[in-house]
Amino acid sequence: MHKNILNIIRGTLLIGALSLSTLSISAQQKKTVLIIMDGIPTDMIYNAYTPNLDRIRHNGVLLESYVGGVRNGYSETPTISSNGYATHLIGTWVHKHDVWDNSIKEPNYHYPSMFRLFKDSKPDGKIAIYSTWLDNRTKLLGEGLKGTDNLKFDYHFDGLELDTVAYPHDDKSNYIKRIDTAVALEAAKSIYRDAPDMSWVYLQHTDDMGHIYGEDPEFYNSISYMDGLVGLVYDSVLQRENEFGEDWLVVVVTDHGRTPLTAKHHGGQSERERNTWIVMNKKEINQYATERQVAAVDVLPTICDFMDVEIDNTVLTELDGTPLLRPVDAANLSARLIGDQLILNWNAYNEDSTADVFVTFSNNFAKGGRDEYKKVGQVPVKEGSAVLEVSMPQDAKVMKILLKTKTNTLNYWIRK
Ligand SMILES: [Zn+2]
Repeated sequence: MHKNILNIIRGTLLIGALSLSTLSISAQQKKTVLIIMDGIPTDMIYNAYTPNLDRIRHNGVLLESYVGGVRNGYSETPTISSNGYATHLIGTWVHKHDVWDNSIKEPNYHYPSMFRLFKDSKPDGKIAIYSTWLDNRTKLLGEGLKGTDNLKFDYHFDGLELDTVAYPHDDKSNYIKRIDTAVALEAAKSIYRDAPDMSWVYLQHTDDMGHIYGEDPEFYNSISYMDGLVGLVYDSVLQRENEFGEDWLVVVVTDHGRTPLTAKHHGGQSERERNTWIVMNKKEINQYATERQVAAVDVLPTICDFMDVEIDNTVLTELDGTPLLRPVDAANLSARLIGDQLILNWNAYNEDSTADVFVTFSNNFAKGGRDEYKKVGQVPVKEGSAVLEVSMPQDAKVMKILLKTKTNTLNYWIRK
C-alpha cells in the first residue's frame, strides 16, 4: 500500500521535473540537505525496512551517535525533540543553546545556527526549510528576529499543522502523516527546482507513532513510510547531481531515541534514549568517526566544513562537536580539576602534532561578548592526556578549557 502511494508520488514528481526548463550548467557546487526523522531509536532503524536509507548508506555510511550531552555533567541535555533539533543545527549542547523543551521559550541566539553561519560566510547563498512544524523556523532558528540578525530563509514550506481545515487533527496522527508527505514532496520539488545551498527537512510522524503504539508494527510501518519520503528527497539530489554536476552532502539523523521497555516515551538519559544515528552519503569519514560513537553536535561542523563556511574564531571555540569528514588531530576532550591540577583527556589521531591549552573563567560569549583566554600549556597530541597547573579563582563559577590543535578546537567546562 505504502509503496504504491510512493510510486504515484514519484511519478508525479518526475512529470513535474521534466516540465521544468533546462537550467544552465555551472561549475561543481557544493550543497547540503539535512533531514531529521523524529524519534527513531538506533535498534529500530536497524530492524526497520528502510530501502532508501540503505541506498544512501550504500554510497556512504551509517554512524552510531548520541544525544544528551555529558550524562550527569555540565552539558547534560534532555532527550526531547526541539533540543535535539537545536543540538544538531547549532552544534552545542543545551547549556549553550538554551532550547530546553518544545516551548522554545528563550533560545540563546548568541550561539548561531548552521544557517546563520552559512549566510554570514556566503551572503549570496540560498537557504531553505521544509518542516512539519512552524516553530522550527520562527522560534528555534529565529527567522526575522533581532537576535538572529534577521535571518531570512530564501525558501520555506511549513505551518500546515495550523491549517485544521485542510488537515483536520485526529488522535491517531494521520494528519501529521499527510503533512509529512506534503512537506517531503515540496522539499523534493524545491530541491530539484531551486537547489538551495543548505536546507533542512523535518518530518515528525514516526515520533507520534512511537508515543501512540510503542514498539509495534504501526511504528515500524511509519518508519518505512517516512523512509519512502526521504527517498523522494534523495532522488531529487541524485537528479541534481546527474544533471548539474553538483556535489551534495545528504545527512539524515534522528533527534533522540526512546525509553528502553516500551519505546513510547523519551526525555531521559537511558542508553536507548541517548543513542542515535547518522546516515550520510559520503564514505570518506575521518578516524574519529570510524572508531568512536560520534555525537549530534558533530553534524554542524561537518556540514560547515563541507560547505567551506568560514567560522569566526570566537564561535569555533564554543562549538561542542568535531567534523566527521576531514581528518582531525583530536576529539572528545574531557577535564577534571583536583586541587590546582587540571587533568585533561582526549582521543588522539596525530602522532606528530602539538596542541595548545587555554582557559578562561568568564562566559561572556553567552551574552554576546568575548572571553579572554590564557594559554596554560602546550601538549603533545599523541599522549591523549595531560596534567597542568591551573588554579581557579575563588569567585569564578566556570572554567572554560580549550584544546587547540592544528586541525580543530575542542572545549570542555568545569563548573563550580
Ligand atoms: Zn522528537
